[in-house]
Amino acid sequence: MTSAQCPVCFSDRTIPIGDHIHTCNSCGIAFNSKFRPKRYNESYFLDEYRHQYGKSYIEDYDAIYSVSKKRIATILQFIQLKKKPSGLSLLDIGSAAGFFLKCARDRGIERVHGIEISEYAAGYCADTFHIPVSRSSFEDLIIENRYDIITAWFFLEHCADPAPVIDKIYSVLNNGGIFAFSGPSLFGPMFKFKRNAWIETHPPDHRIDFSPRFVKAIFKKKGFRKIHVKPAGIHPERIISSGSVFFKPFSPVYRIFSRLTAFSDTIEVYAVK
Ligand SMILES: [Zn+2]
Repeated sequence: MTSAQCPVCFSDRTIPIGDHIHTCNSCGIAFNSKFRPKRYNESYFLDEYRHQYGKSYIEDYDAIYSVSKKRIATILQFIQLKKKPSGLSLLDIGSAAGFFLKCARDRGIERVHGIEISEYAAGYCADTFHIPVSRSSFEDLIIENRYDIITAWFFLEHCADPAPVIDKIYSVLNNGGIFAFSGPSLFGPMFKFKRNAWIETHPPDHRIDFSPRFVKAIFKKKGFRKIHVKPAGIHPERIISSGSVFFKPFSPVYRIFSRLTAFSDTIEVYAVK
C-alpha cells in the first residue's frame, strides 16, 4: 500500500511528515501508507501483550474491567434512548476476550454480542462468560440486527479502509443510539512535543490517527448528531518529568486543560446517531 490518498475522506491534499506517515489537509487525520495488519492469535493475547504490559491480556482483567465500568457509565449518560439498561442491545467490535461485554452485562445490559477475529479470544469469551461472539472480521460479517450501542475500543485505527467501516457501523446503529470508540490522537503531548519519537515509534498496524476536532467534523459529516470527546488517559509526565520541580504545579493545570480540550495521546469518542 503506497497511496498517499486519505483513507477517510479520499482527498489527495496530503502532506508527508515522515517516511510513510502523511497528514490530510482536508479532514486533518494522519495515516500510514505502509500499514500492515497484525495477526491476533493466541500468542498476541498471551505473550505479545505480556511483553508490552507486563502481564497477559487475560491477567489484565481487573484493569480492563475497571476502565469498562467508566465507559459504560459514560455511554448511559449520553445515550438518547428512553430505555432501561435491560432493554438496550450492545455490539462490541473487536471484543477480544469479552471483558467489556461481561462488564456491560453486569451493569444490566442483557443483550450483548461480540465480534472477534481471534479464535482464541472469541472462544475464551464464549466459554468463560457464555456471551455470544461472531468469529469474523467486522468487514466480512453480514449483520442482520440493529443495535442501540456499538462499541469499538482501539479498533478503527487497525482497519485498512476505515471509511466504509464507519458507514457500516452507522447503518446498523438505531436512531438515538450511540457509537463509542477509542483511538490514537494527534492532539496530544507525543505528536505535539515529541514529533520525531512519535513518527519513529508509530505502530505499523495503525492505519490512521484522529484528533478531537477532526473526529467531530468527520462524524458530523457521516450523519451523527452529537459527538462527545474525552481524553482516554491523562499524562502530564509526558511533557514535564515527574522528578522536575515544575511537575507539582504543572500537573493539576495540565489535568484541567486535558479534560476541557481532550488533549491526550488517546481519546474516547461517544457519537450519538
Ligand atoms: Zn482526509
